[in-house]
Amino acid sequence: MRKVAIYGKGGIGKSTTTQNTVAGLVEMGKKVMVVGCDPKADSTRLLLGGMSQRSVLDTLREEGEDVELDDIRAKGFCKSLCVESGGPEPGVGCAGRGIITSINMLEQLDAYKTDLGEPLDYVFYDVLGDVVCGGFAMPIREGKAEEIYIVCSGEMMAMYAANNISKGILKFAETGTVRLGGLICNSRNCDNEREMIEAFAKQLGTQMIHFVPRDNMVQRAEIHRKTVIEYEPTCKQADEYRSLANKIVANDMFVIPKPLKIEELEKLLMDYGLMG
Ligand code: ADP
Ligand code: MG
Repeated sequence: MRKVAIYGKGGIGKSTTTQNTVAGLVEMGKKVMVVGCDPKADSTRLLLGGMSQRSVLDTLREEGEDVELDDIRAKGFCKSLCVESGGPEPGVGCAGRGIITSINMLEQLDAYKTDLGEPLDYVFYDVLGDVVCGGFAMPIREGKAEEIYIVCSGEMMAMYAANNISKGILKFAETGTVRLGGLICNSRNCDNEREMIEAFAKQLGTQMIHFVPRDNMVQRAEIHRKTVIEYEPTCKQADEYRSLANKIVANDMFVIPKPLKIEELEKLLMDYGLMG
């Protein structure tokens, strides 16, 4: 089973990209589980058709330790398996710890298999924002995720966050199995965005695995609580996500990243952002 985590700045498109890519994977017959690791618990709604999934932490709070797999894991589009870790009550407790509680619970319940007992091909952790808080580094720190993709765009803060996440990966890569698999550019239509993210990826020692165009079809599908692949399977954007899914399947470039110095990051933004 490949253990994948998707990181990136809040609002950059992690959950959208994860679910659409997973839709591409399950469509080709892969067995995949998505584990939402964001207290917002909105990592699986497009796969579940808007049905809201009770989070692991809420279930633990309400039912105590006596939890069954069916209470916390639901089946979505094309048999994708969906879990939401959830978060602590606002202002109380550490959300990062909650992620580990949830993953431990999934392991205890033997959740890394289909309901027929077949092994999974992939688990995808959709992890909130930044690794400034050690809690959100838990999946990489504890070896729960080994293959990291960072969603970013040509906006400065998105690149800054991607660079920070790379620092987090570097920290744990030396003693563990975690590696960076690539940057996913989720376009914001910035000037020279594709070229800039390609150059950024190169400096980090990785690749831009795919450039996902910005497309209002994503919003239309979202209003219908579906992935683009389910909502409009023949549209161009659906093929973009299929293409990303195929590239992940074929990927063999797993590196220990070389984070940029802030001056290098700024130079990149100047060189490409001002090229016109
Ligand atoms: P995150 O999980 O990183 O916080 P989301 O996946 O929730 O971010 O994305 C935020 C919003 O951006 C979503 O409501 C989605 O509609 C929009 N979005 C994401 N990717 C695209 C895209 N490629 N084209 C158009 N809109 C997008
Ligand atoms: Mg999200």
